[in-house]
Amino acid sequence: MTWTPLLTAFTVLLALQLLAETWLDALNRKNVRAHANAAPEGVREVMDAETYAKSVRYTLAKSVFGEWQGWYDAAWLFAWLGLGLLPPLYHFFAGAFGASLPGQAAVLCVVGLVMALPGLPWSWAAQFKLEAKFGFNKSTLKLWVTDLVKGTAVGLVLGYPLLCLVLWFVRWQPQWWWLWAWAALMIFQLVMVALAPRLIMPLFNKLTPMPEGELREQLLTLAERTGFHCSAIDVMDGSKRSTHSNAFFTGFGRFRRIVLFDTLIAQLSSKELEAVLAHEIGHYRRGHVPKMLVVSALMSLVGFGVIAWLAQQDWFYTGFRFSSSDGLPVALLLFALVAELVTFWLHPLGNIWSRKHEYEADAFALAAMGDVAPLVGALRKLHEKNLSNLTPHPAYSFFHYSHPTLVEREAAMRALVPA
Ligand SMILES: [Zn+2]
Repeated sequence: MTWTPLLTAFTVLLALQLLAETWLDALNRKNVRAHANAAPEGVREVMDAETYAKSVRYTLAKSVFGEWQGWYDAAWLFAWLGLGLLPPLYHFFAGAFGASLPGQAAVLCVVGLVMALPGLPWSWAAQFKLEAKFGFNKSTLKLWVTDLVKGTAVGLVLGYPLLCLVLWFVRWQPQWWWLWAWAALMIFQLVMVALAPRLIMPLFNKLTPMPEGELREQLLTLAERTGFHCSAIDVMDGSKRSTHSNAFFTGFGRFRRIVLFDTLIAQLSSKELEAVLAHEIGHYRRGHVPKMLVVSALMSLVGFGVIAWLAQQDWFYTGFRFSSSDGLPVALLLFALVAELVTFWLHPLGNIWSRKHEYEADAFALAAMGDVAPLVGALRKLHEKNLSNLTPHPAYSFFHYSHPTLVEREAAMRALVPA
């Protein structure tokens, strides 16, 4: 089998990414170990000594697990492309399904499913070994398998027609297919943002309107006061799978809704829940969702432009041991596999932007509550209950964290409202 310059570039990029991730993980673990005996000043009150020790063990275990998983995934990616396992696999299914348009789309789906198989033991172990060891897991093997089957089915039901449509655009508009495909994907995404809470989420979780009562009244009053007009707050049975807790809002326009995990409601006081809700509303009122949609739309446009260009380059196919006669389906597949090697280095940019949004939402919540205590209290409890790392290495959090650290968030809030 021939080795090509493109495979050299691929291998170098893969190695660089692995080295960067391993180095950041090592820095992070070193920092956590350096503070393993006692939490530093400023976060000492967040957890008692026993919980803190447990959070250190959890952080270290998760980090080691993630590192092995990263090496394992990289080894498989290298096997598919570097060792050349992918071309025979692809051609086997291409021979079976034929060159018709629905056939080509089916090949991509099946190849994608086969390539996902090696990752399954890891997601099983993450839930039933790692999470279970620290008391977070509430899922069962049956529920886990059901989730997997449902998730795959939903992916195919939505993805297969979309893929057919993209391939049809290619035949219909060979020059400009990528603009059409991009536009179709954007419309599809908008529809999904609006409909997913009603159509997809209920397949996996039970969403029930928060029952009438003092808490509901209090939260709706806050929503009204902060300019977020909504009639319902949904409670999601997150406790079905895990004791981790969360809150988010989905949809837009009249489809928007606030979702609180039942675990969150169990963990926080009503004032703290108000503060979390105010933070979520802050994201909405500061226009973070449309901003993110616009930026991700622009990124997809660039992505499609790059695919369209790569699909016309012989070396892109032959470099990965395919042939340019394999055509666009293979270009799509290869792009999906290697794009992350480049976009990985852009993660910090995305995270800087996301952290900026978090600060803005915190400031909004602070103004709405008129007091630092509820949001700080909520954040501290969430860190305690989720055994979050209180001492991440600055380089690690800079690269990987979509939220500022607890210390950073508290400092920013205290700067706004001096005690
Ligand atoms: Zn947020």
